[in-house]
Amino acid sequence: MITVHKFGGASVRDAASVKNAAAVIQSLKENKMAVVVSAMGKTTNALEKVVESHLRNDGKKHKLLEEIESYHLKIMAELFPSGNDQLQNSVHNFFTEASWAMEEDTGKGYNFIYDQVVSMGELVSTLIVSTYLNSTGIKVKWLDARNFIRTDETWREGKILWDETCAEIQQHISGSFESGEKIILTQGFIGCTSENYTTTLGREGSDYTAAILAYCLNAENVTIWKDVPGVLSADPRYFQDYIRFEQISYHDAIELTYYGATVIHPKTIKPLENKNIPLYVRSFANPQSKGTQIMRHAATRPKVPSFILKPDQILISISARDFSFIAEENLSELFSLFAGHKAKINLMQNSAISFTVCLDNDPLKIPALLDDLKRNYAILFNEHLSLYTIRNYFPSTIEEFYKEKEVLLEQRSRNTAQLVIREHGN
Ligand code: ASP
Ligand code: MG
Repeated sequence: MITVHKFGGASVRDAASVKNAAAVIQSLKENKMAVVVSAMGKTTNALEKVVESHLRNDGKKHKLLEEIESYHLKIMAELFPSGNDQLQNSVHNFFTEASWAMEEDTGKGYNFIYDQVVSMGELVSTLIVSTYLNSTGIKVKWLDARNFIRTDETWREGKILWDETCAEIQQHISGSFESGEKIILTQGFIGCTSENYTTTLGREGSDYTAAILAYCLNAENVTIWKDVPGVLSADPRYFQDYIRFEQISYHDAIELTYYGATVIHPKTIKPLENKNIPLYVRSFANPQSKGTQIMRHAATRPKVPSFILKPDQILISISARDFSFIAEENLSELFSLFAGHKAKINLMQNSAISFTVCLDNDPLKIPALLDDLKRNYAILFNEHLSLYTIRNYFPSTIEEFYKEKEVLLEQRSRNTAQLVIREHGN
């Protein structure tokens, strides 16, 4: 029986957390385990800053990279009080590789460099965690995920080449289990092209890696260890009242992540659903507690509304300059504009003379989109908005919103209500 476990950045953010993750792994009395570990703490964000600095050419990238290395050195110093030169050298080599990746001109552009640099976070993290586990007597084998996660060349958003990936996973991971290994430890989030260039799978993509491994290994189940007690009815960062779901269906999980719930990466569910592999979301701080079970046909329990908030939204109203109707021809032109700018519509509404859309107010996409829209249309927009999605709502739930908040737009289906809200002070 093979199981897959994923530990995110928060679960390995400092030495104490790494020790806790090790204790969780040790407590699992499972036959064969594939363990996926993310970059430590906020390392991925920090590495993104390095790449941005490289792009701006502001001369700060080396200092920023050194800060990231020191953060890891500090964790290593606590985990290995009598030192571990070999590990320290290997970690240093990864950071040197990141530096080189920025100097080399391959002509492949910013997103390519991003992948070469940002992937180092997971490589370094997994090396430290696996060395620590082995030092405490928990025998694990470290594997470089770039040997088996095969993708195309969509930098930052690598698309999985499933046949190649499953074949490589068979060879590398199943092969290791067959030769007696019990625990495989590897990186999430990263992959490799046929030309041996590193790719990444999209932010928070380690969950997805866990699902890919489970799919290709026909695993019994997957557990994602999180800093929350499970899948909650509302994000504790934004809402005071929430409860933990004991179980939900794959379908509900897909819907929740579609509307912006960040507890699991949206791409995680599909591969699991295809092979009917249950997913557990559990708390690494409280590993005794049950968490949430996600599986086929599971009735969502308990039955309460769930609240999802997407901050930083922009609401754009588009109308024809002569106030004529917005007809099918306009809509098809508008949709190809959105697609061209890779701007994902979170909510849309059509009236006789205007078409209104709510989008993430991404500074890298929206200004150019607005410029393009203005060419042929009259545009009005509001920024600093939030999009609330409420699944399985009661009418009274929505009434409460109207009492407390300024609602700019509302849409309801039988199960789901969405409200665009101007937050106080904006
Ligand atoms: N370290 C990557 C990120 O923070 C991947 C992950 O943690 O899932 O996006
Ligand atoms: Mg992370």
